[in-house]
Amino acid sequence: MLVSAKEMLDKAKAGHYAVGHFNINNLEWAKAVLLTAQENNSPVILGVSEGAGKYMCGYKTIVGMVNGMLENLKITVPVALHLDHGSYEGALACIEAGFSSVMFDGSHYPIEENIAKTKELVAICAEKGISLEAEVGSIGGVEDGVVGKGECADPDECKMIADLGVDMLAAGIGNIHGVYPDNWAGLSFDTLAAVQAKTGKMPLVLHGGTGIPTDMIKKAIDLGVSKINVNTECQLSFAAATRAYIEAGKDKSGKGFDPRKLLAPGFEAIKATVKEKMELFGSINKA
Ligand SMILES: [Zn+2]
Repeated sequence: MLVSAKEMLDKAKAGHYAVGHFNINNLEWAKAVLLTAQENNSPVILGVSEGAGKYMCGYKTIVGMVNGMLENLKITVPVALHLDHGSYEGALACIEAGFSSVMFDGSHYPIEENIAKTKELVAICAEKGISLEAEVGSIGGVEDGVVGKGECADPDECKMIADLGVDMLAAGIGNIHGVYPDNWAGLSFDTLAAVQAKTGKMPLVLHGGTGIPTDMIKKAIDLGVSKINVNTECQLSFAAATRAYIEAGKDKSGKGFDPRKLLAPGFEAIKATVKEKMELFGSINKA
């Protein structure tokens, strides 16, 4: 059964580790993440962007697929199905479809409007036992075609949103989506520490987890980050493994063209990436 992300993140915050949020794109992705979580006795969050939601034929299809997998794969670790960077309407649609967690990204609105919309969703989510993530200060890089600048959130605005009763808060601390450029300045730990000081027990979320050096990840967890979003890294490892399979000509040998064979190396590569992240985040055996 899908669960809200609240309990797993509160435990992570108290235990000084982070839960991985892995974006999914299809059946193979979801299966790879779920099996890796189960094998490593780790809580996990499956992330779905609105674009991935459309790609997978809508939120109801995803809820059906994931619930079916939990049963068929005998998954017993805590799993949250979470809307990533949702619009207000997208969040409502996911709540209706059976997601157990949603992010409302109102960071592009003026702070007053972000607060008003977040407040409405706090009430709706609380009633249904669904966890809610809010965002303050845009996160740089490209997320479904939206380009932002690597920004740092205002700690006072973070406190205003945190106090509305959300379950987790994403704050820009110089992190960006996608592959980090060579001239990236690194995470702003001063911003993170200031946000943490103002928001107390609130689990903080680090987006753009791909390519942040491991020492920075560990320091971010020490400073209160309890959820780390990983998307691009699984895509890169899936693509590299699939490329190697094709370049080795394996699709042309025997029944190597069978999609169950063709997609297997990429599937294993996602599993390896997810396991590596769970080790780094410290969530193994925390289910
Ligand atoms: Zn993000």
